[in-house]
Amino acid sequence: MSGVSIRKNLAGLAPYRQGAQANPDAFKLSSNENPFSTHPVVSAAIADAIGANRYPDATMPELRQALANFYGTNEAPLSADEIHVGAGSVSIIAQLLTAVCEPGTNVVYAWRSFEAYPSLTMIAGAEPRQIPLSESFGHDLPAMAAAIDENTRAVILCTPNNPTGPIITTGEFNAFVAQAPSNVLIILDEAYAEFVRDESAVDGVADRVWHTHPNVVVLRTFSKAYGLAGLRVGYALGAPETLDLARVTAIPLSVTGAASAAAIASLSPEVAAALNAQVDELVERRTQLVEGLRAQGWSVPDTQANFVWLGVGADAPEWAAKLAEQGIIVRPLPGDSPTTGGIRISIGEAESIERVLEALGQAPGA
Ligand SMILES: *Cc1c(COP(=O)(O)O)cnc(C)c1O
Repeated sequence: MSGVSIRKNLAGLAPYRQGAQANPDAFKLSSNENPFSTHPVVSAAIADAIGANRYPDATMPELRQALANFYGTNEAPLSADEIHVGAGSVSIIAQLLTAVCEPGTNVVYAWRSFEAYPSLTMIAGAEPRQIPLSESFGHDLPAMAAAIDENTRAVILCTPNNPTGPIITTGEFNAFVAQAPSNVLIILDEAYAEFVRDESAVDGVADRVWHTHPNVVVLRTFSKAYGLAGLRVGYALGAPETLDLARVTAIPLSVTGAASAAAIASLSPEVAAALNAQVDELVERRTQLVEGLRAQGWSVPDTQANFVWLGVGADAPEWAAKLAEQGIIVRPLPGDSPTTGGIRISIGEAESIERVLEALGQAPGA
């Protein structure tokens, strides 16, 4: 208690707590980072990003154009105006929610999903409306559609869902947006899109979903597959007028020149090819880990991201502590049921896969 008067709806909010930092000899599998080291071309671009004494170019025109070229095709060209860059895609979620929410409104999202959604919703002044995941650990989209009311300003869909892993299919997504009121902002958070191999998964960028539904904004990031978590750079794709909501509420000049240079270098054909190979490797390790765990009797939801979920419920802290003793840092998330409580294990170094399988051993009761 500081004695300072604060906004009523923030009274219960705790400061952000990061996934545990690991000893140098431990495997840090708690934050879904890319375990490979930074590509030399990217490191060189960061070193060459001169002029730390100068402010960056606020609207990131070069990076937006590089992204437009990267995703644009002859049949489906993309304009830099359809892209907005932020200091991590989390900051873009904050910008969008700040723009659409006010007291008395609500934001609908699945639970359990990304840990940032509840606090970003409350900080924006709205009430979280959390819809339980289905038994298969994915979004219950019919229930989410039914939860939308006249006070709903935004819906957040996370595919693949962090922390459980399942995707939303194109069919499910299309049915949902067709039903949702067109004045409700739909944030399609695709932070792990690069790891998706299931062809039935919705791909908001390939499908240019905002062309048919301008209330949809797609989010992607350089933090996960691209291995730039430490530089803070993410982006949104959407209709220019909808992205303007985020441009209005953004704190100007948050994205650094170094982050922009690293991101642009990462989109170059040479680095992109190297990153694709890393992602392929991580997808193979994912298969190895999921199959290994299932063979040990663990129930593992289908995952299309760079992590797996073990829904151990209230035992999550104990499992995380047990793994930490063996040099494996995972993320415990509190909750009583398998869809709310569990441990999330990121796909990391090759050696980490065997180590995790050894450390977990037979599933309880298997
Ligand atoms: C990691 C993550 C993000 C993005 O993080 P930034 O580092 O801010 O770009 C967004 N959504 C989900 C679901 C994530 O897991």
